[in-house]
Amino acid sequence: GARLGILVKGVEALEQARAVDVVVFDKTGTLTEARMAVTRVVGDAEALRRAAAAEAGSEHPIGRAIVEALDAPPPPATAFEALAGHGVRATIDGTDVWVGTAKLMAEAGMVVAARHQDAADELAGQAITAVFVAWDGHSRGVIGVADTVKPGAADAVAELRALGIDVALLTGDHHATARAVAAQVGIDTVVAEVLPDAKQQEVARLQAEGRRVAMVGDGVNDGPALAQADLGIALGAGTDVARAASDITILRPDLGAVGDAVRLSRRIEQVIRQNLAWAFGYNVLAIPVAAAGLLDPAIAGAAMALSSVSVVANSLRLNRAVPR
Ligand code: ADP
Ligand code: MG
Repeated sequence: GARLGILVKGVEALEQARAVDVVVFDKTGTLTEARMAVTRVVGDAEALRRAAAAEAGSEHPIGRAIVEALDAPPPPATAFEALAGHGVRATIDGTDVWVGTAKLMAEAGMVVAARHQDAADELAGQAITAVFVAWDGHSRGVIGVADTVKPGAADAVAELRALGIDVALLTGDHHATARAVAAQVGIDTVVAEVLPDAKQQEVARLQAEGRRVAMVGDGVNDGPALAQADLGIALGAGTDVARAASDITILRPDLGAVGDAVRLSRRIEQVIRQNLAWAFGYNVLAIPVAAAGLLDPAIAGAAMALSSVSVVANSLRLNRAVPR
């Protein structure tokens, strides 16, 4: 496993990997690159300036992209608050500023202008996340933040399908954005606008349907879902949270390792079975002979040794396992 760039926490994880029949991918930072970029700003310069100020304290890729998009240091912000799965709020120039989803705007009592809603709808259709900026009761702008799908994502999805596994996308992002990304990688099952806690519930719901669920994430808002899954797979570049919550950590940069983990686990299962068959075979042959008093102790010893050798030799074949 180590040579494939896969770190397995224990035998149990491999057992689980073998039985998995659905793999659920987180979107941001998992199917897509962890780095995002602002591609469009609708609204005046003040909207971007205040959004960047509010996001200065954020660790979310969306927040970082917005801060980077402002080519000056943002003004100071106070009372910063990260609202998981929604966005952020902070006080700038004595004004409360809200930055995030349409849902956040509604909850904060901000009226979204029709031109901002239209811009957001258009962005979502292009797989771009629309981030609203608002203060004093009204939306002030929309910022388009794009993720790029990882190069190997579509191949990784196709490979899991070929192994007979269903694939789904689970995200806190808007439905339209999520569907556009899913289409790019060949996923049809999309569960969107899911808050961080609800990601765990979604995994539990699949389990209640009798599915064996693997969850692949980066640990940003998906730690509980990774822990809930029968098999939690954390991407190596991910957070410590992800590593702690998962059973398998992928140290390789590409998503192809998910399919490799499943194949490796199936291969190990097969080898263990063959080993049992070998050991059993030797004993079945040797015991009646020994019982008849016909077995020379030296030959019995040799048979024992041979039995061990074939088990070890067979297991060593795992080193060459999981060919593509
Ligand atoms: P994902 O499930 O794709 O990893 P998250 O749960 O982290 O997404 O976030 C869900 C949605 O909440 C994002 O798509 C975005 O619309 C909004 N959001 C989260 N964090 C921020 C932020 N710092 N600034 C603005 N919007 C945010
Ligand atoms: Mg995420």
